[in-house]
Amino acid sequence: MGASGLEIDDRLDHGEKIDDPAVERAAAAASFDASAFRQEVRRFCRECMPADIAAMASKNQYFDREQRVRWQRLLADTGWFTAHWPRAHGGQDWGHLQRLILIEELERAGTPWIAHFGVSFIGPVLIEFGSPEQQQHYLPGVINSDTWWAQGFSEPGAGSDLGSLATRAVREAGGYRVNGQKTWTTMAQWADMMFCLVRTEQTQRRSDGISMLLIDLKSPGVTVRPIETYDACHHVNEVFLEDVFVPAENLVGTEGQGWAMARFIVERERLLVTEIGRAHRFLHELHALAAKVCDGGKPVSQSPSFRRRAAQLEVRYQALRATVYAAAIAADEGRHHPVDPSLLKIRGSELQQEILDAVIELIERSGLAYQSTALFGDIDGGSRGGAHIPGLIFDHLHSRLTSIYGGSNEIQRGIIAKALLQV
Ligand SMILES: Cc1cc2nc3c(=O)[nH]c(=O)nc-3n(C[C@H](O)[C@H](O)[C@H](O)COP(=O)(O)OP(=O)(O)OC[C@H]3O[C@@H](n4cnc5c(N)ncnc54)[C@H](O)[C@@H]3O)c2cc1C
Repeated sequence: MGASGLEIDDRLDHGEKIDDPAVERAAAAASFDASAFRQEVRRFCRECMPADIAAMASKNQYFDREQRVRWQRLLADTGWFTAHWPRAHGGQDWGHLQRLILIEELERAGTPWIAHFGVSFIGPVLIEFGSPEQQQHYLPGVINSDTWWAQGFSEPGAGSDLGSLATRAVREAGGYRVNGQKTWTTMAQWADMMFCLVRTEQTQRRSDGISMLLIDLKSPGVTVRPIETYDACHHVNEVFLEDVFVPAENLVGTEGQGWAMARFIVERERLLVTEIGRAHRFLHELHALAAKVCDGGKPVSQSPSFRRRAAQLEVRYQALRATVYAAAIAADEGRHHPVDPSLLKIRGSELQQEILDAVIELIERSGLAYQSTALFGDIDGGSRGGAHIPGLIFDHLHSRLTSIYGGSNEIQRGIIAKALLQV
């Protein structure tokens, strides 16, 4: 495979600088050493991941809320969890580059996914748009993961076309009365609070009448109902809001500012869903499986067609990785291109799907069925082909969703076309 990203472990362990010179230079300009930091994160994952979480990570199992919170608190203890926040709010003023290295390394190690709704979305929104009282009240719960947040944007008739959202918030003494329905609300079953887009006014330009409210999900009138998905896991929900009272102090910014906050969040979301660390992990799985699965008495890894396909995937992975790093450096230098998040979102989701398609074709040859119960605990007699196989099948199913959430890939193509054609 040559000097590829798949081999960087060894070189890093021997103290070599493994990042691209442009990355090393940008890191030095931001006063950190990219390779040394990468090494530090790897050491942390190896030495500090609790045994139960590490065992589940090795089997690609599904973490529950308690495990995710425990891991986030360990990250908070290192100062890395909110390091991208300003110092005035408990952060370290990290730029995109250092955060990208952290997230890439965590994904490569298979650690629990960081719940971005708090630390990456509403935390930064409150820092940018919130009142000092809101910052004081909510940010500590994000930093120590005491409060689990959900994102209430999409509605049954308003996904891609968010401007048509119909959840109404009507002003009354001391606050708002909210009625409507949110859908696809990720992990709302675990959430304490939801940052929610509501319509406070009917305006000529639909986006002008949208505001953001912070809704306590234990309020009377809130019902969270699971949506059954084909992977037999409970990730997404419908949230019904019936005459829910929301105090006036839970409005973020001013009425009509919700659209600007949604854009602020969605742009962050698209950079995060590139998931190059996960792509790397899946490429590793692909090579490991190809060495084990045989075709005509020989390991598939020796077949020219497999080698060609694996090489194509590796080239795409390397190209995407280089592009993400270039985009992070550009953003830190204030040269951010408006189409970068859309481009990265499309290529990141497609690459993950392509790698996992190749993985699933190898698993299919072994005739293995999907055992969703194995995602949560060991199954009697183990899984044929390895304990991590059910998790890989789950990842394959889940990868279908990556081109939908965070703004579908068709919508991203529209954004790129508009920006490039200036229409
Ligand atoms: C797993 C998962 C988790 C999610 N989590 C959350 C969450 O936590 N909070 C939240 O608010 N939302 C969440 N979403 C919702 C997600 O943001 C929406 O599903 C997404 O924006 C698409 O909206 P929609 O489902 O209404 O599809 P629609 O907007 O109805 O689109 C249907 C199809 O038409 C295409 N389409 C629509 N408009 C255009 C156009 N103008 N040009 C070309 N093609 C178009 C779309 O690409 C899509 O293929 C989640 C979704 C998924 C799948």
